[in-house]
Amino acid sequence: MLNKFDPEIYKALRKEIEKQKNTINLIPSENIVSKNVLKIVGSIFTNKYAEGYPGKRYYGGCKFVDIVEKVAIERACKLFNSEHANVQPHSGSQANMAVYFSILKPGDKILAMDISSGGHLTHGVKVNFSGMLYNTCFYSVDKETELINYDKVREIALKENPKLIICGSSSYSRIIEFEKFSQIAKEINAYLLADIAHIAGLIIGNLHPTPIGYADFITSTTHKTLRGPRGGLILCKKEFKERIDSLVIPGIQGGPLVHVIAAKAVAFKEAMTKKFKKYQIQIIKNCKKLCEELQKRGYRIVSGGTDNHLFVIDLRDKGINGLFAQEILEKVGIITNKNLIPFDPLPPSITSGIRIGTPCITSRGMKEKEMEKIAEWIDETLKNKGNEKILKDIKKKIRRFASEYPIYPE
Ligand code: PLP
Repeated sequence: MLNKFDPEIYKALRKEIEKQKNTINLIPSENIVSKNVLKIVGSIFTNKYAEGYPGKRYYGGCKFVDIVEKVAIERACKLFNSEHANVQPHSGSQANMAVYFSILKPGDKILAMDISSGGHLTHGVKVNFSGMLYNTCFYSVDKETELINYDKVREIALKENPKLIICGSSSYSRIIEFEKFSQIAKEINAYLLADIAHIAGLIIGNLHPTPIGYADFITSTTHKTLRGPRGGLILCKKEFKERIDSLVIPGIQGGPLVHVIAAKAVAFKEAMTKKFKKYQIQIIKNCKKLCEELQKRGYRIVSGGTDNHLFVIDLRDKGINGLFAQEILEKVGIITNKNLIPFDPLPPSITSGIRIGTPCITSRGMKEKEMEKIAEWIDETLKNKGNEKILKDIKKKIRRFASEYPIYPE
């Protein structure tokens, strides 16, 4: 038994279970998978090597692995109405890497959203491979509205003439208009990549427009609103199938994580159900409610609200920074992450904001009435940051409250 053989790791696991059970997780990029997904990701498929693709493997004994991968590909194509899917990327970052390597040469120019407006590290940030290899120019949100200004994106695109335009974000709380991005890309003959890592579940639920038909490539993670195992996904037209597949393996990866691909297949099947659609609707309802409750209590939300599963609070007028807020909230059992606000004067290690999202708490069964309580606890905690007694009291309440909601939902 693990507890006897490796008490160090076993103890950390027990503590993590306890923490997930007794706290409120508001990190928008995380989720709580179903029992079925959890079971298959911990299955003996982890034992199998399967370099290559169904029917064309470098290893023997792949008969059952082939079934799994074929089903995962078929389900991904059906879910998103895509001509082709590659389900092998180990992560969202590797999905992006495969797309870049398939169409760009080092030094080529890409145009992407800057990180303080909501762009991701892999969208050309200097410290990331994407920023090291490619010449990136950025668009930001509008300073006044904090929304994407498509005229401005077009202006930059015409001036810079990038080979690839990337849309999709880690913290933008509004609808992304893929059609407008597509028009801009077409005008300058650039490729368009839609990175839907955050909003994949909302797209499946028809709660956000789809990039299918507009983007040449679509990348995603499978573990955020999609509620599957940690991993990546690439969708593309048939014409790019060969290029993408050969870039994933042998281009940038070796053996696929078969247990994860099996869990992706199960998650895709779950995503085809009415229950999944209802779940996505509730994520947004909860997010809007939590956002409104915080606004009522005087918090400024970037762009003035949310249309999706997340939002960013600007803490500058509260006299605290994102790092401090993250730490004090964690102390009482509310898990968030510090986040840059557009044009943030503070560095990414400190930030002026925190990012809040509702996929996890919705998976645990919370609804609008719980959002009122959570907003109240966030407010009380930040207001009473110096009062240990009050903070202890809030922590107790949160522990009692959170432990009522399952961390192993169906
Ligand atoms: N793209 C976006 C928009 C993301 O938000 C993320 C992760 O946060 C990624 C890509 C990368 O995903 P991963 O962490 O699986 O590499």
